[in-house]
Amino acid sequence: MRTAALIVAAGRGSRACGPLPKQYARIGGLPVLARAMAAFADHPGIDLIQVVIGGGDATLYKSATASASAKLLAPVEGGATRQASVRNGLRALRTHQPGRVLIHDGARPFVSADIIDRVLAALSDAPAAIAAVPLADTVKKEGPDRRVAATLERAGLWRAQTPQGFGFADILAAHEAAYAAGHVDMTDDAAVAEWAGLPVALVAGSEANRKLTTAEDLAMADRLCAGAPDVRTGSGFDVHRFTAGDHVWLCGVRIAHTHGLEGHSDADVGLHALTDALLGAIGDGDIGQHFPNTDPRWKGAPSHLFLAEAAERVRRRGGNIGNVDVTLLCEAPKISPHREAMRARIAHILAMDVGRVGVKATTTEGLGFTGRREGIAALASATVIIAPHPSA
Ligand code: MG
Repeated sequence: MRTAALIVAAGRGSRACGPLPKQYARIGGLPVLARAMAAFADHPGIDLIQVVIGGGDATLYKSATASASAKLLAPVEGGATRQASVRNGLRALRTHQPGRVLIHDGARPFVSADIIDRVLAALSDAPAAIAAVPLADTVKKEGPDRRVAATLERAGLWRAQTPQGFGFADILAAHEAAYAAGHVDMTDDAAVAEWAGLPVALVAGSEANRKLTTAEDLAMADRLCAGAPDVRTGSGFDVHRFTAGDHVWLCGVRIAHTHGLEGHSDADVGLHALTDALLGAIGDGDIGQHFPNTDPRWKGAPSHLFLAEAAERVRRRGGNIGNVDVTLLCEAPKISPHREAMRARIAHILAMDVGRVGVKATTTEGLGFTGRREGIAALASATVIIAPHPSA
C-alpha cells in the first residue's frame, strides 16, 4: 500500500518574517518548507509527496525545492482556508491512489523520522492517528478585561500537531462531506475525521515539532539549526590522457604545453576531480551522471560550468563549502607558476575565500602513467557544512 505525504504550505501568514510567507523563511540556511519536506523525502515509508502552495508562490516554491526528491509531485494551489487547501491536495492525490496519507504543516520543519514512524505504526490499528503532546502549561480561560475567568482542568488535554495520518479514502470522503455540509473552518484534519465519526488515535509528537508562527519562533529555530554543524567530506579523482595540442586547462587556468589533454569537455582534470569531491560530500552522484560525455551540450564545454553546478547543488542542499583542496599529479607542465591563479580561479567559481582553496602538485618520480608523461591525474577533497535538522 502506498503512503502519500500531503504538506500544506498555502498559508499567507507573514507576521513572522515580513513580506515572505513563513514557510519560505530560511532557518539555518534552508527554507522552513524544504526542511519539512526533507523529513518525508528521506523516510522509506513515504512514497509520494504532494505540496499545496499559495497562489502566486510558484517561484518561491521552486527555489525552496530545487533539489527535489523523486517522490515529489507537482504542487497544487490551496484555497481560502486551510481546510480548502487540504481538500485541493487530497483531490490532486486521487489519481495516484495512495492507501494512506499523512497530512503535515509546511511550517513544522522539525518533524522527525520517529514521529512519522509512530503515526504510520498507529495507522495499522486505527483509521486515523495524529502526533500530539500532552499539555504542560496550566490553561486559563479569559474573562472580561483580560482577567482570568477560570482555570481549566488540563489532565487529558493534548496539543494536536502534525503529521496526522488517515486512510486516504476515509479522509477524502470526510473532507468532501464536511464541505458539502457547510463545515469549512476546521483547523486540523483530525477535526474533520472526528466530525465524520472516525476514531482518532494519539501518538507522541515532540516539543521540537512545533509550528513556527512568530518571528521569535523563527529566530529560535535558526539558533537551533546553528547549534551543531553537520560537516561532510567528499573526495574526487580524475585522469585525462595527453594528446596532440599546445595547451592544457588545469584548475580553470589555460597553460601552454607541448600537448593537450583528451576529453569530451575541456578535459580540466583538476576541476573534474573537485566537482566530484563536492558531489560526493552531499551524496549527489558524480560528474559523469550529471554531465554525461555522450551529451553534445558538454562537447568542448569549459569545466567551470560543472564545478559551479556542483556548488549550486551544495547550496540547494543547505550546505556551505568549508574548504577545497586539489592535488595534480604530473611530470609536466610545471604547476607552481600557476598555483595562485588556479586558487583564485577556483575561489571565484565557488564564490569563496581564496584562503579556503588549496592547489598542490607532485610528480610521481617517473613512475606509472603520469611518470611516463602519458596523462595527468588529479585528486581533490572538499568539506561541506550542512545546517543540521535538529532531532526531536
Ligand atoms: Mg574528467
